[in-house]
Amino acid sequence: MASRTPEDIAQRWFRPEIRALSAYHVPDPGDMVKLDAMENPYVWPDALRDEWAAMLHEIHLNRYPDPGARELHAALREGFGIGSQAGLMLGNGSDELIQILALAVAEPGHAILAPEPGFVMYRMIATFAGLKYVGVPLRQDDFGLDLEAMREAIATHDPAVVFLACPNNPTGNLFDGDAIEAVIESCNGLVVIDEAYAAFASRSFLPRLGEWPNLLVMRTVSKMGLAGLRLGLLAGPPALIGELDKLRLPYNINVLTQASAIFALRHRQVLDEQTARIRSDREALYQALSAIDAIHVWPSEANFLLMRVPEGRASAVFDGLRQHGVLVKNLDPAGGMLKDCLRVTVGTPEENSAFVTALRESL
Ligand SMILES: *Cc1c(COP(=O)(O)O)cnc(C)c1O
Repeated sequence: MASRTPEDIAQRWFRPEIRALSAYHVPDPGDMVKLDAMENPYVWPDALRDEWAAMLHEIHLNRYPDPGARELHAALREGFGIGSQAGLMLGNGSDELIQILALAVAEPGHAILAPEPGFVMYRMIATFAGLKYVGVPLRQDDFGLDLEAMREAIATHDPAVVFLACPNNPTGNLFDGDAIEAVIESCNGLVVIDEAYAAFASRSFLPRLGEWPNLLVMRTVSKMGLAGLRLGLLAGPPALIGELDKLRLPYNINVLTQASAIFALRHRQVLDEQTARIRSDREALYQALSAIDAIHVWPSEANFLLMRVPEGRASAVFDGLRQHGVLVKNLDPAGGMLKDCLRVTVGTPEENSAFVTALRESL
């Protein structure tokens, strides 16, 4: 046999589109003020952490988790108001649910479609699954859905799945409700409303499940304060959820996540108070940023704000912030409508003012 290197083997067997990818890069925050990943900055009060630890003490790790996560299903249905007429499946974060959706429809010629700029995972996971990905530009001025462009792209590509993140990441806005309905109606495939930021927004499509045969709603507990648990949910018509659930690996929600999420939902008020606080601090941060002449900031219904700095300055401002110990997300390398843009997560009031001070100095 000819000599073989691991590189030869990768070349021979790995799909070219995988080899062409660069790995998803998450910077090490060290001890910086971490405002890059839309996390809730608040921890639980000590008494609640003690109660949680005592509960975990009773859990044994020698057994597999309940593959149906039945108790957690019931808690989530009650906590999120998901009626028995809707099907429900859980994922190891909503990222896993996006992956399951992609795997389910992965056939030559099938496409996933989403507005852009949008959540990067839709494109990445479509690529992983060997699907075509179609990005449809949002309106340039306010990042609203361009309904004509959406209709045209849907007619051309007949997508198997359309993802609409509402509020959208990284732009922070909610798409117009009538435009969303028009997309749902014009699409033969599944339309998934990704409500990762529902805790910070004024509208949800969850109560509208059942109105259309192709509407699904995705939620996650990550942005409401439980990012470390990795738990997302997808709700929709039972006939669709039933098919998707066949692709879910049986023990995808581990024992500690199941128990901790049930515990957290029982103490939902703590999370609700934290997210209410973040919503009001978002307004204060928006005002503070609006007062800086050199930048433009967009209104947001999520727990982050998108801003544009003077032309060509994004990377310098990003580095300046880092030197002041503040980590945000630099969107400028993505280019297009995100040229010169940074995204900042709403932190504690102290973190927010440290950020504003550092920003003024970095400009
Ligand atoms: C953060 C985010 C997610 C990912 O959620 P996980 O449950 O943490 O995997 C999904 N969709 C959007 C739009 C997001 O911004």
